Amino acid sequence: MKKGEVYKGFEVIDIKKIPGCASKGVYLIHKESGLEVFHLVNKDPENLFAFAFNTPSKDSTGAAHVLEHSVLCGSKKYPLKDPFLQLANQSINTYLNAYTASDRTVFPASSPEKSDYFNLMSVYADAVFFPLLKEEIFSQECCRVEYDEKNTPSLQGVVYNEMKGVYSSFDSVVSSEDESSLSRGTIYEYDSGGNPFVIPTLTHKALKAFHKKYYCTSNCRVFLYGNIPTEEQLDFLYENVIARCRSYGKPAVMKSVIRKTPAEHFVEAYGPCEENSDKKSVSNINWKISEEDFRKDISRISLEVMFLSDLLWGDDCAPVTKALLESGLGDDISHQSGVDVNRLEPVITLGMCGVQKEKAPEVRKLILKVLEDVCRNGISKGDYERAVMGFEVANREVLRFNGPYSLVLMRRSLRGWCYGEKPWTTLMFADEFDRLKKRAAADKNYITSLIKKYFLDNPDWSFVVTTPSLEWNSNRDSIEKKLLKERIAQSTVPELKAELKKMYDFQNAPVPEKARNCIPHLKVSSLKKIDDRIDTKHTLVDGIPLFTNEENTNGITYADIWFPADVLKSSYYPYLPLFCECIVQCGWKDVDWNDALLKIQRTMGSLSFTTKASAVPECSSQLAREEPLTVGREWLCMRFKFLSEYAAQSFEIVKDCICRTDFSDTERIKTIINAVYANAASSIVSGAHVYAAMRSSCTDSRNGAVNEIWQGITQVFTLKKIMKEGEAGVAKKFRKIFSAIKKGGCLIHITSDSDGLESVKKLLPSFIKRSALVPLKKKRNIKDGKFYKLTELPGKNCAGSETALYDEVVIIPGTVGYASTNIKCSPYDTKEAMEDCVLTHYLETTDLWKKIRTEGGAYGVFFSANSISGYSKFGTYRDPKPFLSIDTFRKYLEEIGSKEIDAVDVEKSITGTYSAEIEPKSPATRGMTGIFRELYGFSGEQKLRRLEWLLKITPEDLRNAALRFEAAPRKGKTVVFTSKTLLSDKIEKKSGKIITLPL
Ligand SMILES: [Zn+2]
Repeated sequence: MKKGEVYKGFEVIDIKKIPGCASKGVYLIHKESGLEVFHLVNKDPENLFAFAFNTPSKDSTGAAHVLEHSVLCGSKKYPLKDPFLQLANQSINTYLNAYTASDRTVFPASSPEKSDYFNLMSVYADAVFFPLLKEEIFSQECCRVEYDEKNTPSLQGVVYNEMKGVYSSFDSVVSSEDESSLSRGTIYEYDSGGNPFVIPTLTHKALKAFHKKYYCTSNCRVFLYGNIPTEEQLDFLYENVIARCRSYGKPAVMKSVIRKTPAEHFVEAYGPCEENSDKKSVSNINWKISEEDFRKDISRISLEVMFLSDLLWGDDCAPVTKALLESGLGDDISHQSGVDVNRLEPVITLGMCGVQKEKAPEVRKLILKVLEDVCRNGISKGDYERAVMGFEVANREVLRFNGPYSLVLMRRSLRGWCYGEKPWTTLMFADEFDRLKKRAAADKNYITSLIKKYFLDNPDWSFVVTTPSLEWNSNRDSIEKKLLKERIAQSTVPELKAELKKMYDFQNAPVPEKARNCIPHLKVSSLKKIDDRIDTKHTLVDGIPLFTNEENTNGITYADIWFPADVLKSSYYPYLPLFCECIVQCGWKDVDWNDALLKIQRTMGSLSFTTKASAVPECSSQLAREEPLTVGREWLCMRFKFLSEYAAQSFEIVKDCICRTDFSDTERIKTIINAVYANAASSIVSGAHVYAAMRSSCTDSRNGAVNEIWQGITQVFTLKKIMKEGEAGVAKKFRKIFSAIKKGGCLIHITSDSDGLESVKKLLPSFIKRSALVPLKKKRNIKDGKFYKLTELPGKNCAGSETALYDEVVIIPGTVGYASTNIKCSPYDTKEAMEDCVLTHYLETTDLWKKIRTEGGAYGVFFSANSISGYSKFGTYRDPKPFLSIDTFRKYLEEIGSKEIDAVDVEKSITGTYSAEIEPKSPATRGMTGIFRELYGFSGEQKLRRLEWLLKITPEDLRNAALRFEAAPRKGKTVVFTSKTLLSDKIEKKSGKIITLPL
């Protein structure tokens, strides 16, 4: 394609090379319909598309949000109730989602397989442009009056309940108070997600009008990424969208200000309050950049404010954060601190949480004082270099977070494109950053002038102090009751009940066979075997094993040094997670922790230390015996990354860390212990299902026990014990551990591109010598029993181990529970193992879904075969009846051999399992997978064999797997994490041990 060329009515506006993502950007506009398309063309087979619409709000009814949900509930070509769910289950998508931002709604999806990609696009295009928007769906998604068995009315609805959840979170209320304090008189005054007080006023008619106005081709931007030719995509869009549209609509007017409203500087706000809350406030200063200013240079201003936030409070040693933490005015920097540049009026927020309300003004004074000091004295070289390094690494690194990296590019592009800029304006991040660095180099007052402009001299600011209040809770309750009354008064009870019945009938109506299969489903025969062998090379450098992975890392080098932990006595094991935290955060002999941290961050992307252990699959046990120094061990892994040109300086720092860490700063160790404990304690409720699963595996194998000691609730008990022991004793132990670890030898692993690998190889001999690293020593001979002993926790013994139905019951805060148990499955390198995988996936999405979620009321249910450990794990998430779930699961297993197995569902489960097996990896993850396979005896060949087996699985195979499950002995430990309220005398009598967490 060439600039000026016209293809099916699409004119090529421009073609541009986009450095930084190895792509060519093709920008097209379909003249007649106004549809805009931007395609980042490159070699990546994982293609992504996104439909984006500008959807500015004129009230807080949440029309944009309700619409985002509703369009995915049935469309002209796909007249189903839940095409979205169906699609998710039978496609190999690597991302499939939709979101409502403050002024736009975006529908992105991606897939590594072309036919699957077009299936996704077909369903999404039909959903956004031709949705059915049925009244029943509106009742289901927005808000309705519902009557329970006792005939008590209440307001219900998917979006309504979702937003009620948001408004009952203190942090979300703080964010919205901060934002709205500066947004009065603008479109951002309204909540695009919907305020539960206003959502009930949205009507079906208004929703349809909203769709007509905004979901039209003239207001749509299509972002494309990947290797499918642009022409093919345009053919698709032309046939499936443009040719079918009756009208093309108009672009939405994007303007922030709707009326003049003077800024309110000091705001006192309130938010939801927990029963035993200490009622401490969050105090935030907010600054706004006006639309007029922002539009002058969106790309430059976005980058400047993002850089400032990193520089001033991006880290514990950054000037504002350091001053706030040392002041003791509150617990921590507030969660809202940061910048939002995805709006016409960017907002910067900075403050503290856990503040006594009367101390709030001091927080503001202190922040302003630090900013003034920085302006007066200039920004320090160390701080500047730290922030620059953070940006450089982030800019170059190709990462995956819950989806492909192209999502990051999509968000960057839309940032300017949605406001009428060219789609690449905000995408050329690296160029913009180079300009920033040049300006900073040429003018020593440049950075401080930015601080003055965006903070100190900015007239658009507010200071918001938000405090939890029980009164706020009760106020909301009474307003809610009033709303319900009004809603009922507008109608009559029979009318409301008729509406409800209509919705239920719709939900319960069986789907006709024809409609059920209308969603294009990927045939197993079209799934390709994907070879994900990773080439890991192995040599020796001065007796130390060196493993390397050559990957396209974009100029970043990832290095890890593995020290075996199993040279230690078992009694040291519980201390290792904390030991790992302290090594990189404690400073070195003669270098204070703060300076050491700053040095690390100025030079490298990151440096961390972690414990690592896995089981070796049965098929590799011979290998483990032949290679006892490298295969099947427990490790401490020191991992760091840096820009390849900083290799020498980075290894110098790592050498210092290895040779000079002496754990002499016991004050710092104390702070770290407290922080690690607080983190672990707060993660228990949100991650209880993970903790429960770990606990239920702790007697399966030595590996299960070691992971429980390091990452399970056992670690919470350990930390509590360490706190009592005191930091001086811990420091002494750490010195002993470190010296023993260093004597145990190590291996080194590097992932980089060829230049990066070359430069590191040159450095290694001197690094090894000066760090006094030695070759690997043998594992210490310890009986497994010693590790099992370390996982034993104090508690109240109830039923004997023979009669107990639930081996362990762990009491946690909250109102729900989490159940976990496991049963034996087939060994890794066998066809049966793949059958187990498909069967568990099948059950998780069919029978167990129905029994545990739909009927039992749990929020989530998991069942997955882990053939490496040899166990299939069953678990529930946010479960109101965790004990019953265990009973239900056991009973189900007893008769599973005689269950019907549906051939179509089997095919979908194969696709689902396949999708998880072939998930693409980032370069860093590929390197890590490479070394992991070496250290635990996995190979790419095994993986390939597994895929071959997977694609041949038949319903008959699953029936056999089911029979195996039915016959498997009950062995794994059953663990239930539960709130006290769910525990009865009857259940206590059936429980082995009741453990209360030392929180
Ligand atoms: Zn939602």
